[in-house]
Amino acid sequence: GGTVRFEDVRFSYDPEREILKGVSFEVPAGRTVAIVGPSGAGKSTISRLLYRFYDISAGRILVDGQDVREVSQASLRAAIGMVPQDTVLFNDTLGYNIRYGRAGASDEEVARAAELAQIDGFVRRTPKGYATEVGERGLKLSGGEKQRVAIARTILKDPPILILDEATSALDSHTEREIQDALERVSRGRTTLVIAHRLSTVVGADEIIVLQHGRIAERGTHGELMERE
Ligand code: ADP
Ligand code: ADP
Repeated sequence: GGTVRFEDVRFSYDPEREILKGVSFEVPAGRTVAIVGPSGAGKSTISRLLYRFYDISAGRILVDGQDVREVSQASLRAAIGMVPQDTVLFNDTLGYNIRYGRAGASDEEVARAAELAQIDGFVRRTPKGYATEVGERGLKLSGGEKQRVAIARTILKDPPILILDEATSALDSHTEREIQDALERVSRGRTTLVIAHRLSTVVGADEIIVLQHGRIAERGTHGELMERE
């Protein structure tokens, strides 16, 4: 499962200005669709609407054929994993922060998620697990390290649907490549919506949607969009 469908979605934060002006697309189960476009186009808004932070003013958003307004908040959010551009961490241990993905996870499951996200390089392991203090607002970790924590959380949560919102935009190019690899491993087999600034970071997507001023300006594979340039 995990098919995501937007049908003629309209949305505004305030009545004066419409942000999404009739957006339709589908992410078939297990596939990856990327949304690219200039800053302010409405890309992040799409991901917030899928997570139902806000209700739309017209159209429908469906997950596996079901209107998200008819699904409980809890089951919707259990089905969707989000790796945001700036992960907010709790002032607690890394183990606590990873376990936020699924509170009931065993120590072994946390350790396995941390390993898959390649967190081991920067944590101090104790017999009890991941003891490294993250600190106030996560300031002791770099952007790439915080992304790895978000990835570990997502691995632990194991959702059928994934939203990657500019997940590597804040990183240097070496770290970006490493995180990109980790994200590709996590997104394999999951329905994935990638929000990105640049076309070059979403070459492998099944479909790329170019959003401009709240409308779909173009769509196609990376190859098709390059040909039309
Ligand atoms: P990004 O474009 O990097 O994803 P955001 O989605 O957080 O960043 O914000 C995009 C733009 O929307 C920014 O210019 C920001 O100032 C503005 N913005 C974000 N939240 C609000 C808000 N609550 N009220 C008004 N403007 C906002
Ligand atoms: P993108 O992700 O493409 O940069 P966003 O979806 O973040 O764009 O924002 C689209 C538009 O909505 C922008 O003009 C932004 O200023 C506005 N916006 C974003 N968040 C809010 C908000 N919480 N309240 C009011 N306006 C917002």
